[in-house]
This record gives sequence, C-alpha cells and structure tokens, in this order.
Amino acid sequence: MSETFDAYVITRDEETKQQSGGWTQVSTDDLPEGDVTIRVRHTTMNYKDALAITGKSPVVRRFPMVPGIDIAGEVVASDSPDYAVGDEVIMNGWGVGEVHWGGYATYARMKSDWLLKKPAGLSGAECMAIGTGGYTAALCVQRLLDAGLTPESGTVLVTGASGGVGSFAISLLSSMGFTVAASTGRAEEEPYLRGLGASEIVDRNTLSGKGRPLDKELYAGAVDSVGSTTLANVLSQVKYDGTVAACGLAQGFDLPATVMPFILRGVTLAGVDSVMAPKARREAAYALLDKHLDRAKLAEITQEADIRNVDQLAADLIDGKVRGRLVFAVS
Ligand code: NDP
Repeated sequence: MSETFDAYVITRDEETKQQSGGWTQVSTDDLPEGDVTIRVRHTTMNYKDALAITGKSPVVRRFPMVPGIDIAGEVVASDSPDYAVGDEVIMNGWGVGEVHWGGYATYARMKSDWLLKKPAGLSGAECMAIGTGGYTAALCVQRLLDAGLTPESGTVLVTGASGGVGSFAISLLSSMGFTVAASTGRAEEEPYLRGLGASEIVDRNTLSGKGRPLDKELYAGAVDSVGSTTLANVLSQVKYDGTVAACGLAQGFDLPATVMPFILRGVTLAGVDSVMAPKARREAAYALLDKHLDRAKLAEITQEADIRNVDQLAADLIDGKVRGRLVFAVS
C-alpha cells in the first residue's frame, strides 16, 4: 500500500544545470529499488551532505535525489531473510545520497547488503553523531590493530586532528590506551584536542612542507586524513614496521613520497575507504566504537538540530560555522 511522506528533494534544471532543493511530499511508490524499507529515525549532516545540498560540488549524480548518506532507522518492510520488521538498522555510504535516495525523508528503501544491525550499546542518534567521519576513523584504527599495533608499540599520530575523522580517531585511540599525538593547524583547538585524549600537539606546518625521505622515527603508527606532503612526511617519521592508515585528502590528493620508508623500515601504507567497505569490516569498526567510544565525549560534540533547517545548516557547515556533529531526529 502506498503512503505519502515528507522528503527533502534535490532537483536539477536540465537547461541551466542549476540544482535546487526543498521539502516536498513523495510517495512510497517513488522510493528506489531495494529489498528493505526503513522508517528513518535519525540522520546527520556530513560535509558531503552539505556539498550535495548547496551544490558546491557535484556530489549528486542522479536527479531527483534525496540527500543523507548516513541513516539510522527501523525496518518497516523486508523481503530479506536477514532483516525483520522492527529491526533497528544503520547505514553509511554505498553511494546513498549520491545515486540512491538517502536519509532526509521519513522513509528510505535500501539493499539489505548495505545495512548493519544497530550495535546494541549505541543508540541510533549516537550512531548518527558518529556518522561517516567516526565510522571512517574506526576503520582506520582497525587497520592499525590488524597490523599488530598495541598501546605498547608507541605514540600514534593523528593528522587533520580537529576535523571529523581526526577527532574521532583521537578519542577512540586514547580510550583504547594509546598515546596520541595530534597534528593541527589550529593552535586554539589545543584544549579541545587534549580533552579528546591527545597528549602531544604537533603544528601541522612542520608536516605540510617538503621533508626528508627518512626522518626521525617518532611514531608507531598514524591515522592520516590529510594526504599530500603531510602523508609523505608522516611516512618518513614512522618507526620500523609501523603502519599508516590513510583515508583523506584535506591537503591534496598527491603523494610526493619516496619508497624509503617502505624498503628500509618496512612501513605499511594502509588505504581506507568507507563508502564501499565490505560488511565484515564495517561490523568490526562499529564493534570497536561500541566498545571504546567515550559516550560523554560524543555527547559533548553532538548538537541536535531541526532537519527543516537543512538549507541554512548546510551553508553554515560549508562556511565552517558548525562545530561538532549535527544529529536530526526525523520521525
Ligand atoms: P574535516 O574538514 O572535518 O577535517 C579535515 C581537517 O584536516 C581539518 O579540520 C584540518 O585540521 C585539516 N586540514 C584542512 N586543510 C588542510 C591543509 N591544507 N593542510 C593540512 N591539514 C589540513 O574533514 P573530515 O575529517 O570529515 O574528513 C577528512 C578527510 O577524509 C577529507 O579529505 C575527506 O574527504 C576524507 N574522508 C574520506 C573517507 C573515506 O572513505 N576514505 C570518509 C570520510 C572522509 P586542523 O585544523 O586540525 O589542522
């Protein structure tokens, strides 16, 4: 039976190529293909969502589109043996909000392969406060653990420290007992970063220029969301057998590095992608978050916001006026 509901829909004028978005009524018949229909309870706004809404970058690749790349909700219809009506589920990535309708609507329809059962120890709202940034940070930390890193291995460096991925990486690593060095360009964020658990602050300018192929061995491992010369310098400062989990390009997508850290120190560069990550890796990342993420710190950086204000909030987020994580209660 079909039902109409509210959705934020982005459309594009095919002549002018201008996109615009707003709240409108759609029908469950309009939902994309998928074997599980979800009543969206919470969603969030990531940088990518803000880009999609403002049209500042061509994130949306199919129109009309409902944005919202992270979803927490409840199954209301399922043709999948893996999910039953009433199950609480979460979803991150998979091109949702880009080529498949996302979470800024009362209902969403997904492929069951994209869904995860909500971790028992986290609420749906908390999962959305974590969002793609926190989940990506957990994927990065998991890569370091898989490589055998322990708190005894030595200090772990986190670059892009006051950003979304960086903040979660610091919080998670410090809760797990790691000593964390935080690289930032914002000296004024030192109290915030120490509050998250960083015990050393590194001026990002010391990493962003051209450095030596091999530098002093300072770190057992690193989580890098910056790329470019920063990542090259991080590789040159990682200790023998260390691992660097790389997920971002805040400085640039180039990597002007040498092979020296790899061939003389056995350093591993581990790439991390959140969008198409297989289910088992996602489950491991959420298990890590469930076990180790400090809920009080999460609450401190979370603000509940009204999803009706997404236009303004997206513009504010792009302008750097939003601190912490936005969570929307949808229905
Ligand atoms: P944010 O914008 O929240 O944070 C990025 C941080 O990087 C900034 O806060 C800043 O930290 C630092 N930074 C920004 N510009 C520069 C620069 N020119 N040189 C050095 N450092 C810089 O982004 P997120 O944390 O959400 O994402 C980080 C990166 O990871 C992005 O590139 C994003 O695209 C990518 N990403 C990748 C994913 C994947 O699946 N691989 C998933 C999610 C994100 P500070 O002020 O402390 O110096």
